[in-house]
Amino acid sequence: MLGTALREAGGKPPAELKDTKRSHMRVHGRAGEACPVCGDTVREVSFADTALQYCPGCQTQGKILADRRTSRFLK
Ligand SMILES: [Zn+2]
Repeated sequence: MLGTALREAGGKPPAELKDTKRSHMRVHGRAGEACPVCGDTVREVSFADTALQYCPGCQTQGKILADRRTSRFLK
């Protein structure tokens, strides 16, 4: 099961965040909570006019997206 997850993650470049976002709307509004899918901490990035919640484990292969408020969430 873990191997399958790793293979799927390895085949998806970070650029596909837009596509995976649709199937991960369950993390919307859950920044700071554990992802219901993988248990990673849901992160939030804020832009000029919107904010996006995402799971690093499921959607960005562990990469933390940078934004003007990221430093508040990073340790
Ligand atoms: Zn996740």
